[in-house]
Order: sequence, then C-alpha cells, then structure tokens
Amino acid sequence: MDDQPKRALRVWIDPKRCIANAKCTTAAPGVYILDEETGVAYIEDPEAATVEQLFAGARVCPTQAIIIEQYGRRVFPQILTPMFGEKSDSGGK
Ligand code: SF4
Repeated sequence: MDDQPKRALRVWIDPKRCIANAKCTTAAPGVYILDEETGVAYIEDPEAATVEQLFAGARVCPTQAIIIEQYGRRVFPQILTPMFGEKSDSGGK
C-alpha cells in the first residue's frame, strides 16, 4: 500500500472540530495521537503513516476534524458539514 503517491498529500486536524473522542487514534494507532493537554489530536509522523492509515482515521472522525488535501485540494471529507454554532452567511436571513 505504500506505493501510493503520498507526497502531495497534506493531512491536518482542525482544532475547532476535534472533540477529543480518540476515534482516530483507535482506527490508526501510532499515527493519530491525542494530545491530553490541548485535547486535540495530532499526527505523530506524517512521513511514516500510510495513506490507508491516514484515511482510516479521517473516516471514523465524527466531526470531520481530519482534513486530507492533495495538490492543494480537499479530497476528504468531500462535503464538509458546518459545525453547530458556526455562522452561515448563505441563508440570507
Ligand atoms: S476522531 Fe476526530 S474528534 Fe476524535 S480525536 Fe480524532 S480528530 Fe479529534
């Protein structure tokens, strides 16, 4: 699986979305780590993580806090749902 092109992949965790429930650290142990102090998950070693592991963690995140981009475009999640309490300017009300 490590022959997949990973170089252009960028994975980041939105601290505003992470609710520290550690689903990603269970799905991809050793890849995603939960920082006990900040309450936000982080990626231990992006270079060592496989594409599968990165996606496995992202897929199980209930709040879509794990964002995967490739060549500057978001590839996961494909639809990023707004957070509760997040201001939406599209309603026009
Ligand atoms: S699964 Fe999502 S919300 Fe849970 S710790 Fe990981 S990044 Fe944070």
